[in-house]
Amino acid sequence: MLIIDGKKVSLDLKNELKASVETCQAQTGKVPGLTVIIVGHDPASQVYVRNKAKTCKEIGMISTVIEMAADTTEKDLLDTIHRLNNDPAVHGILVQQPLPKQIDEFAVTLAIDPSKDVDGFHPENLGRLVMGHLDKCFVSCTPYGILELLGRYKIETKGKHCVVVGRSNIVGKPMANLMLQKLEATNCTVTICHSATKNIPFYTRQADILIAAIGKAGFITADMVKPGVVVIDVGINRIEDPSTKSGYRLVGDVDFEGVSAVASAMTPVPGGVGPMTIAMLLKNTLQSFQRKNDL
Ligand code: NDP
Repeated sequence: MLIIDGKKVSLDLKNELKASVETCQAQTGKVPGLTVIIVGHDPASQVYVRNKAKTCKEIGMISTVIEMAADTTEKDLLDTIHRLNNDPAVHGILVQQPLPKQIDEFAVTLAIDPSKDVDGFHPENLGRLVMGHLDKCFVSCTPYGILELLGRYKIETKGKHCVVVGRSNIVGKPMANLMLQKLEATNCTVTICHSATKNIPFYTRQADILIAAIGKAGFITADMVKPGVVVIDVGINRIEDPSTKSGYRLVGDVDFEGVSAVASAMTPVPGGVGPMTIAMLLKNTLQSFQRKNDL
């Protein structure tokens, strides 16, 4: 069975991005800038934001983190976003989720200038994705990373049946829509399953490519897949493990041990889809810079 190694691909990609940033600097005298806003003190969000800032710097981009208090009003956050929308040194704006209760996440998504929405959450970007204009939008980072993995591992997708389990706006829906496009590493027949789907194994057993984005540890078991399936495991779930120092470990939505005996290729957790997400965020930021500078 082939392990689809997201850790390795993300390192290759970061080296490529670093070289592109150097080229941008030589051509324009400027480098791309990503600004991340974090509201409040959610520990997991703080780790994500730190990692994004660190990776940004590693590849030579300007990274700015704006920390706002947990009781920030929606208006204050929207004012900050409007200021960044008008700042030519900022090419990508990301507001880390989840946000405190007093702030409407959709209002925040709508406030970000679509041309700087490197998360790809704005309806204009999602709409362009659905219409197949991938070169004129930002694709949300996790589905974009999966597309990159399928492409680099030359997984045959044309005419295959892709089953996506999960329909969130940030993973399942854009993922399913991507796999439907008539493009390289896509062009599939697509089925989407969710919590109201009756008899999920009936659908997953038909999958040539199975993408699990559910948020339930080990949900997909060996009896739910057909021999030779390519499995992409998006899930990141914490389970208790007294044998580790922290007392827990991370697992995916797929029972790796059981399914790997049946599948032809699979992403591990950790080290599969996860490392690709930050790399694609930086790729989107670079793309924003290139578009704004006609490169
Ligand atoms: P959401 O909770 O927003 O969505 C989960 C989806 O799974 C929903 O559509 C839900 O259905 C569906 N679902 C939940 N339970 C079942 C069930 N029993 N049977 C069938 N479908 C079910 O999660 P996200 O999409 O944001 O994330 C999914 C997973 O991926 C999480 O583990 C998350 O941590 C991980 N993730 C990983 C990333 C990475 O970089 N690797 C990035 C983003 C997420 P319904 O719509 O009906 O409620």
